[in-house]
Amino acid sequence: MQFVYDPLPYRVIFGAGSVRRVADELSHVGSRALVLSTPEQAGSAQELAATLGDKAVGLFSKAVMHVPVATVDAAAAVARELDADCTVAIGGGSTVGLAKALSLRLDLPSLVVPTTYAGSEVTPIWGLTEDGIKTTGRDKKVLPKVVVYDPDLTLSLPAEMSIASGLNAIAHAMEGLYAFDGNPIVSLMAEESIRALARSLPLIKADPTDAKARGDALYGCWLAGSVLGAASVALHHKLCHTLGGTFDMPHAQTHTAVLPHAIAYNAPSVPEAMERASRALGGGDPATKLYELAVGLGAEMSLAKLGMPKDGIAKAAALAVANPYPNPRPITEEGIVQLLSRAVEGLPPI
Ligand code: NAD
Repeated sequence: MQFVYDPLPYRVIFGAGSVRRVADELSHVGSRALVLSTPEQAGSAQELAATLGDKAVGLFSKAVMHVPVATVDAAAAVARELDADCTVAIGGGSTVGLAKALSLRLDLPSLVVPTTYAGSEVTPIWGLTEDGIKTTGRDKKVLPKVVVYDPDLTLSLPAEMSIASGLNAIAHAMEGLYAFDGNPIVSLMAEESIRALARSLPLIKADPTDAKARGDALYGCWLAGSVLGAASVALHHKLCHTLGGTFDMPHAQTHTAVLPHAIAYNAPSVPEAMERASRALGGGDPATKLYELAVGLGAEMSLAKLGMPKDGIAKAAALAVANPYPNPRPITEEGIVQLLSRAVEGLPPI
């Protein structure tokens, strides 16, 4: 066995009601916080700021999807004017993304209170969008210092969005199981993440207010985010990125429809990873189990129905082999055509 283990330094507070601990936890981060949110969550940001007293110097509630540079400019101007020494972000990946952009630009450390299943809060990955072009990178400087997970805050996350991003989180964990730069800790986290999400998502579909299932799902997403932050992704994520960019397809839904097929493609090359995945999914072939899980959750499994033109298969396959990257099984154009031909129709993986 050979591996590198380079843990990321972040502190996690987990549990129902833990949002009430943010004021105390802020002492690890700073004393003059700018509180960030989207416009939709401005009310939650105000409530949180009120619990911080004079440790909250202001609010910036204009976070939007994909972190536009203009939004970062505006937030940075407010942070400078108020002499903020840290940020507190409450929300999903978009708000966390803004906190990360401010860490990158102004060296402001952050405390983050996630309210979705995106997992960005535990990755050193940042993204910025300018003139329609998204740039991403990795920098430990953007990693939040403290993450406060309060599952009660996810009770309002619509079931459909919960399922889509929960399945997206499973995709991070699945690829972590066979990442070329994985390690035994990543594998443990990935297996446990898949287990927690596979058991909690059906319960959330049945009752989105099931507090116990919400806790379990958030726990699984923390682990999935940790896997994404620690190990590289492969065929599945690269293919989804290509499809999203080329055919303007919805992100999380595309992940859901592609995952069983990408796993079926890689499975013969990674028996140990598949053993772990099978254990986490309750036995059987992981690709089939993932397909059945998604169908049971009501997910759309046909890429055509998600917006991919059927004559786009050849184009996508050519793009998929254009920029080589590490993947457990060699990627061939013919293999990708076969994989996509089934995914376009929404058929089970073979
Ligand atoms: P989001 O943050 O864009 O939130 C979507 C909407 O849901 C917003 O209006 C938000 O205010 C609202 N919302 C959030 N929590 C809610 C709740 N509990 N109840 C009701 N409404 C709620 O969505 P997201 O999926 O969390 O994040 C997507 C973004 O995160 C993408 O831009 C993606 O690229 C990024 N991301 C980054 C990483 C990373 O490591 N850098 C990882 C995953 C995702």
